[in-house]
Amino acid sequence: MTVTMQESAVTQDKSLADAQALTQVTRYKVYTQRQFDKIEPLKRLSPEQRFEIEVVANVLPFRVNEYVIQELINWDNVPNDPVFQLTFPQRGMIAPEDYDRMADLIKRGADRKEITQLASEIHGYLNPHPAGQQEMNVPVFEGEPLGGMQHKYRETVLFFPSQGQVCHSYCTFCFRWAQFVGNTELRFASHEAEKLHGYLKNEPEVTDLLFTGGDPMVMRTRHWENYLEPFLTPELDHVQTIRIGTKSLTFWPQRYVTDEDADDLLRLLEKLVKHGKHIALMAHFNHWQEMQTPIVREAIRRLRDAGVVIRAQAPLINHINNDPDVWVRMWREQVQLGIIPYYMFVERDTGAKRYFELPLARTHEVYQKAIQQVSGLARTARGPSMSAGPGKVEIQGITEIQGEKVFVLRFIQGRNPDWVQRPFFAKYDPEATWLNDLKPAFGEDKFFFEDEYAQMAGDGKIIY
Ligand SMILES: *Cc1c(COP(=O)(O)O)cnc(C)c1O
Repeated sequence: MTVTMQESAVTQDKSLADAQALTQVTRYKVYTQRQFDKIEPLKRLSPEQRFEIEVVANVLPFRVNEYVIQELINWDNVPNDPVFQLTFPQRGMIAPEDYDRMADLIKRGADRKEITQLASEIHGYLNPHPAGQQEMNVPVFEGEPLGGMQHKYRETVLFFPSQGQVCHSYCTFCFRWAQFVGNTELRFASHEAEKLHGYLKNEPEVTDLLFTGGDPMVMRTRHWENYLEPFLTPELDHVQTIRIGTKSLTFWPQRYVTDEDADDLLRLLEKLVKHGKHIALMAHFNHWQEMQTPIVREAIRRLRDAGVVIRAQAPLINHINNDPDVWVRMWREQVQLGIIPYYMFVERDTGAKRYFELPLARTHEVYQKAIQQVSGLARTARGPSMSAGPGKVEIQGITEIQGEKVFVLRFIQGRNPDWVQRPFFAKYDPEATWLNDLKPAFGEDKFFFEDEYAQMAGDGKIIY
C-alpha cells in the first residue's frame, strides 16, 4: 500500500448549490430585543407568553439568529423545547417582584431611560462577577495589568480578543451575561495581540492558550491570522495547545462551511496543526438537538479534516438538559462524530441561576446515571464540576463514612496545583447548589485549602 503525502484537506470551496442542500440559512441575520416582533414563529405563542419574554428580554441579554430559529428549535415543542429554553428568556429567570416592576413599566409605556435604570438595578442583584474573575486572575506584563486576559491555573492562559466580544446567539444561562447588557466596565477585552505574545514569551510554564469571549469565532479570519501566526515562531514553542472556546457549532456552523472566509480559517488552523500545534476546539453543546443538522455535521467533518480536535463541554441546566438520557445520547453521538466529551459543569451562581440551578446532589445523580450507560470512550467527560474561586471542584460521589453522609470532592484544577487530586469531604446537604453552601464534614471548621486561599485573596473579598 502506498501512502501519498496529504495535501491541504481544505481544498474545495463549497458551491452555493452544495451549501443549500445543507442549510436554508447562509446569510447571518440576528434579532435582539428591539426586533422582537419580527420573529415570525413567535406569533404562534399567546400574547401573554410573548409579553413575558419581552419583559425578561429587557433585563437579561437577548440575541438569536435565523438559523437557530429555523433549524434548531422545534416550534411544535415550544416552550419546552431545549433550544428555545437555551435562547429565549423565560418569566422564571428573574425574581417575581423584579418581573412585576419591569412589567408595569412596559405596560405604562415608560421611556427607555426608566427601563434601563430598573434593568441596571436588577443586574446588581444577579452576582455579575462570580468566582472573583475580575479581582484575582489578571496577569501583569511590564508592570501593567493586562485587562483582556486571565491567568488562574499555571498551564493555561485565557485571552478575550476584543473582536470576539459577542456571540452568534446568546444563551439564557450565560455566566458572562454582564458583558452583554451594555455596561462596558464589566467587559473583559483586549486588542493587544503584541501584549499577549509578549506575556506568553516570558511564561515558559504556559502550555495552553484559550481563546474565549463572548465567542471568539465571531472574529473574521484576518484577525485570527494576526493572533495565531506568531505561534509559528520558536519563542512560542512552549505553547503547545491553542484552545478555542466556542458555541459556533451550535449557533453558526456556517462559520466553517459557507462563510466567505471559512476556507481561509480552516487553512489557517491546518497550518498550525501541520506545524505541530494542537488545535482544540472546545465546543459548547448542551443538548443532542444542537448536533443534528446537515450543516453542523459538515462543519465537524471539515474541522476534523483540518486536524482540529473537537472536545465538548457544557453545564447541566434545569429546563434544558436535566435528564441522564439527554447526556447519554449527546455523549454517544459526540463519540460517533469524533468529538471527545470533556466536562460537565455545574451551573454557576450568577444571572438567571434561580431558574437553571440544580442541587449538587441532583447534578451528581445525572452524571452518574449517564456515565453508567456509555462506553469508556464517552467516560472522558469529568464532572459535575464547579468553576469556583479556589479552583474547579468535582463532586466525585455521595457516601457514608463512620455514620456521616458526605459529599466526596476533589480539585480538578486549583489555584495551587498542589491541591489537585486530594480527596476532601463536605457534609451532605440535599439543598446545596454551590461550593459556598458546603460545610466541612467530621466536625472540622474549615476545608484544607481555605487558609491558603484567603492568603491569596489578600485584602480582596474571598469568593467561592
Ligand atoms: C477551566 C479553566 C481553565 C482550563 O482548565 P482545564 O482543566 O485545563 O480545562 C483555565 N482557566 C480557567 C480560568 C478555567 O476556568
